[in-house]
Amino acid sequence: MSMYEAVIGLEVHVHLATASKLFCSCPNSFGDAPNTNVCEVCSGMPGVLPVLNRKAVEYASRMALAIHATINQRSRFARKNYFYPDMPKDYQISQFELPLCEHGYLDISVAGEKRRIGITRIHMEDDAGKNIHPQGENFSYVDLNRAGTPLIEIVSEPDLRSAEEAVAYLKKLHAMVVSLGISNGNMEEGCFRCDANVSIRPMGETRLGTRTELKNLNSFRNVQRAIEFEIARQTDLLDDGEKIVQETRLYDAGRNLTAPMRSKEDAQDYRYFPDPDLLPVVITDEELAAWAATQPELPEARMTRYMDEFHLPEQDAAQLCEDPVLADLFEEAARLCGQPRRVANIMLGMLMRQLNESGIETTALKLTAEPLAELATIIENGTISNKIAADIFPELMKGGIMPERLVRERGLVQVSDTGAIDAVVQKVLDAHPAEVAAYKGGKTKLVSFFVGQVMREMRGKANPAVVNEALARLLA
Ligand code: ADP
Ligand code: MG
Ligand code: ZN
Repeated sequence: MSMYEAVIGLEVHVHLATASKLFCSCPNSFGDAPNTNVCEVCSGMPGVLPVLNRKAVEYASRMALAIHATINQRSRFARKNYFYPDMPKDYQISQFELPLCEHGYLDISVAGEKRRIGITRIHMEDDAGKNIHPQGENFSYVDLNRAGTPLIEIVSEPDLRSAEEAVAYLKKLHAMVVSLGISNGNMEEGCFRCDANVSIRPMGETRLGTRTELKNLNSFRNVQRAIEFEIARQTDLLDDGEKIVQETRLYDAGRNLTAPMRSKEDAQDYRYFPDPDLLPVVITDEELAAWAATQPELPEARMTRYMDEFHLPEQDAAQLCEDPVLADLFEEAARLCGQPRRVANIMLGMLMRQLNESGIETTALKLTAEPLAELATIIENGTISNKIAADIFPELMKGGIMPERLVRERGLVQVSDTGAIDAVVQKVLDAHPAEVAAYKGGKTKLVSFFVGQVMREMRGKANPAVVNEALARLLA
């Protein structure tokens, strides 16, 4: 078996959260009744003229600024010609030779190793509609609400070397678009979607191997698993002396595999040409300066600020800032209770566990800053132990529940009273003379046995620090 290196390049489509579509004034919104947000322009009637949405240009430029790219202050729209029922114009309006943005980068860090990933280009384009195939019918519906909505496509250099790096890059891009406020980033609705180009080559080889393009990756987890599968599949093929076929493959999450969809067309098959209905996109120096001066705080800057302002360890700050929803929640709760380290610990421990187990997206999170801040406070002031906090945490996830009231109602308040604890400790020691003798004979590890017995007697409500102190005193 030879040693191969994986080479990955990502194409990410981000749906821009403008009020109207890219070239008409139809609402740019999701979930409405089919074909209600449609006009002559976005349904491709003959003789109509598109008018560019300036807000989309601003949003695309903000992303370009965030990745330190060159912004072409004069770019151009092109027609990408192909036929598909969800696209009545028979061409997509995209950018080809002169995209809005080129030569950017984004730094990622995986397992402590920092790497700079090149971003080839960002261009603007309009989205297609949606075909809906009713189960058991021999016809399909077409919904054009999405047709003509604004997208940016962010194309990376083939600089990524593993599935982990690809996911780290994607998560960072995702946090950026959400922080910039240019997209809601919802992956399930397809507002942030990614195709992964994957190839492998023998270690030390500098030429690129033949790639496949993976589609249908609608979560970070699927991106990870699809790339891992594809690297393994290509490795097996090369090891067996076979060749990789350049093609588009669909990821099947249920079976965790990729299967061929179609052979990859070459770019010229789309017969790109400049769209004669649209003027070049011109961005003035004043516009660019104004956008640059009003960029929101980006995840990297936020992370540094969390380390300075809240004294969080780098790893914790990085994990929180990976997701703007979590970062906002942290910051609000930390300000409310003045216990940033405690809030971070709760979020990265109990909250992460709940999110992972339930698969809930953070955008659907019901836990708010007030209960979170109160939980931090009552742990900090000794009202409850971490253990009790973890026990009630799943209930707090439902939202609208204040933890202090909950623990009082349930009688879960921690006992720190030395007298009460001494009495229980003495009772436990009296009931286990053999263990006491063994402890005194040098088996000091038995202390955790005694702690366990005391906790059982007191139904987990004893303050562990006070119990330990009492044991040390009464066993001396
Ligand atoms: P297309 O639009 O046909 O998919 P592009 O040239 O725009 O083609 O490339 C798309 C993506 O594929 C880019 O992110 C690029 O980095 C990546 N890519 C190109 N060649 C390879 C390769 N051999 N292995 C992995 N990724 C590649
Ligand atoms: Mg592609
Ligand atoms: Zn329209």
